[in-house]
Amino acid sequence: MPFGVNAFIDKMEEVVPGSRKSMTAFFELCEEVRDAQAYSSSVNGNTDSSYMKEHFPNFIRAGSYSVNEVLGALGMPTAAQDILNAYWCYLGVDCDRMSFLHYGSMVIRYITRDAWMPKMRSHEISLALEERIRELGGEIWYHSPVVNIHADGPGAITGVELSDGTLIPTRHVVANCSPHLVFGGLLEEKAVTEQMVRAANARVFSGRGFSLFLGLNRSAEELGIRSHNYFIYDTADSVRQYDRMRKVDTNHVQATVCLNNAFPGCSPEGTCILYFTTMFMSDDWGNVSDADYFKAKDRVADDMIRVFERETGCKIRGAIEEIAAASPTTYARYCGHPQGVIYGYEAADWDALMSRMMMMREDAQLFPGLRFAGGWAMRSSGYSSAYVSGDLSGRQTVGDLKKEVR
Ligand SMILES: Cc1cc2nc3c(=O)[nH]c(=O)nc-3n(C[C@H](O)[C@H](O)[C@H](O)COP(=O)(O)OP(=O)(O)OC[C@H]3O[C@@H](n4cnc5c(N)ncnc54)[C@H](O)[C@@H]3O)c2cc1C
Repeated sequence: MPFGVNAFIDKMEEVVPGSRKSMTAFFELCEEVRDAQAYSSSVNGNTDSSYMKEHFPNFIRAGSYSVNEVLGALGMPTAAQDILNAYWCYLGVDCDRMSFLHYGSMVIRYITRDAWMPKMRSHEISLALEERIRELGGEIWYHSPVVNIHADGPGAITGVELSDGTLIPTRHVVANCSPHLVFGGLLEEKAVTEQMVRAANARVFSGRGFSLFLGLNRSAEELGIRSHNYFIYDTADSVRQYDRMRKVDTNHVQATVCLNNAFPGCSPEGTCILYFTTMFMSDDWGNVSDADYFKAKDRVADDMIRVFERETGCKIRGAIEEIAAASPTTYARYCGHPQGVIYGYEAADWDALMSRMMMMREDAQLFPGLRFAGGWAMRSSGYSSAYVSGDLSGRQTVGDLKKEVR
């Protein structure tokens, strides 16, 4: 599907005749969602309900419904819904449970702003942030994992301890890791309350990641790889697909990217790069034994290549020069995420995006002095969301500090 609202609607009409009216209504509704969110941000979430009712009535009407409920109400043909819903794996929740507001706001941004990729991959963003942080007088300490958050009791943080024993006195922490990690290991036990543990345990881990990276010794063109991004599913029904993703053996989903088709110079001439990602919607990977670990990784990698060749007709196996796989164990090891989760907590049902935003103040009161940022926080996963949550928690912490000084 192409980028740009009109191009998207035209293409959909071509492949699903009769879809134009509902697709147009869908994008109009998404525009309203985006405008409502922009208004909400401009007033720091303190929205005026009569203004909301007057200017964003459809946003309010769609507010508590799932993606599938809203698309059904718009009368969208099933085939068009199947194509439109293909992006569900970006948010990792099936469309019966995913809030329409969340999906709609993501899809409209994606379709109207295009997909963007830094030439030196996402690491380039980290490097740019690092440069700016240092320019502004900030500090970054690498190889310095936090092993303890010291506290006199609930809501009374006194400092943070690093693995080399360094102690940083502070009353405020913004944690860019999971609440499970903080309440289950980092925070001193006497400060952990039952309420915090229950609040964390009530939430559902999202997908555990598995990625495969291939360096191929032929060009994308020679191999017949024409697209930049492929979504390959067992079924277009996201609810059934989600269910199949609970088990390693029944999951054949892949979101696959050929970077050369966005940035031809990313690998030497006559070669290309292909990477695949999938998710497991339970801790089934935890059942892999130590002895079977490498074989299990090979099985999933082999299956990804088989499915890609079957669905696209591109024969890539004979062109593989470099191969590396990252399992949930790899993600757990390098990022510290429990079970190798790559999308934080599932933004679904009572824990959806809007509920999280509305609960921000109350959640922060669970433990004064402690806030969260990143994929596990109120804006959920994705780079832009992770940055926005850091910005929010940073500002709120500055607000907390100012109140202390008064
Ligand atoms: C394969 C893949 C492809 C993706 N593609 C996209 C994409 O195209 N677009 C997009 O928007 N998003 C994408 N995402 C999602 C995006 O990467 C995440 O949403 C984002 O990185 C979340 O940022 P974060 O800071 O919360 O977590 P992370 O980036 O995982 O960072 C957490 C950091 O905390 C550190 N840490 C953990 N514990 C401690 C501790 N005790 N002390 C000190 N440090 C600690 C870890 O080492 C890690 O560096 C993708 C994710 C994956 C896995």
